[in-house]
Amino acid sequence: MDVTESIGGRSVSSLLVEIRSGKPLLRDEACELLRCNDDDLHELLASAREAKQRFKPNVVTYSPKVFIPLTNLCRDYCGYCTFRRDPGEPGAHTGAHTMTPDEVLEVARAGEKLGCTEALFSLGDKPELLFPEMRETLRRLGYKSTLHYLEAMCELVLRETALLPHPNPGLMSAEWISRLAAVSPSMGLMLETTNTSLLAPGAAHDNAPDKVPAKRLRTIEEAGKQNVPFTTGLLIGIGESLEDRIDTLLAIRQLHRRYGHIQEVIVQNFRAKPDIPMRDWPEPSRGEMLRMVAVARLLLPDVNLQAPPNLSSPYPELLDAGINDWGGISPLTPDFINPEKPWPHLEQLKLHTEAKGYILRRRLPIYPEFMPAVTARPGLLSQKVKASASQDGYSRRAA
Ligand code: SF4
Repeated sequence: MDVTESIGGRSVSSLLVEIRSGKPLLRDEACELLRCNDDDLHELLASAREAKQRFKPNVVTYSPKVFIPLTNLCRDYCGYCTFRRDPGEPGAHTGAHTMTPDEVLEVARAGEKLGCTEALFSLGDKPELLFPEMRETLRRLGYKSTLHYLEAMCELVLRETALLPHPNPGLMSAEWISRLAAVSPSMGLMLETTNTSLLAPGAAHDNAPDKVPAKRLRTIEEAGKQNVPFTTGLLIGIGESLEDRIDTLLAIRQLHRRYGHIQEVIVQNFRAKPDIPMRDWPEPSRGEMLRMVAVARLLLPDVNLQAPPNLSSPYPELLDAGINDWGGISPLTPDFINPEKPWPHLEQLKLHTEAKGYILRRRLPIYPEFMPAVTARPGLLSQKVKASASQDGYSRRAA
């Protein structure tokens, strides 16, 4: 095998030595690292692990959560989505459905009993703009829009349970970020990709108006202006190039450097499913995913990095590539986004994490270093966050 592959005249190995001693990783170098051969992969992973250890020594976290799919109606038609439904469409799992407040509370309370601390609200983007059925549902419930309903449900969960809401409602205006930040300590929106050609007919984001990269960047930037702890990330394997993947991470990094609000970056791999338009697309290989996670760690050495364990097999090797978080893991609700991929059992997760030499800790939806942004403000949200947090900002409950 070729072990003398070179980047800008030097070998991968000598580039990694420079990166380890503090040289910033440039765009073209990052692209080349994604292409590194199997002999160099070992060293790339070791460099990523070192960076992880400098950032968060010895600890790997997860957030015990319940998944609350507030509505699976959505006005977008992403080619890889198995979550969304049209009104009246029968679903493999639940069909088209908008949860009632009683259903929301029931799930949240069941999660509370099992020790969960996060209520992850996942929902389709602005379905009422496309479907009269959703407008009617909202009218019956007494709300003007899906976001008004989401705000009320976050407030309900915050008031009635010990769970902290983390909403993922799609694009948000400055006003909506501010309103939702009053009832949830953190929120999220996957940037997914900066590649606009994926909006073209037949591509992954054809007929997905909320997936215009500039609009998503604007939402993430607005959250930064308001100092709202924010989770984002990229989706790999949906038709983008390796260069696009790096550009997506660099766009996130640029916003984080300006505002300091990106609490977590998720590297998510596309998985083919029988009931999606992209059912025949190739999935990113295991080696591609490991390279991507490792390069993300080197580009974002001081940002929490997550890759979903239920989308990789064997998942413990994601730790080899420098993640420091497993994301939200539910002891109760399935992953409605990837329902055929069960989350790992928590006991297994703990064993696998410890076998790699790390301590597994439970975190809140907001990371410890972002806690002051919320607890400085008086009110119910601040009280609830303080009540859930240990002295060092993780969850009060042991793993
Ligand atoms: S991925 Fe999100 S925005 Fe796209 S169709 Fe599914 S629910 Fe809608």
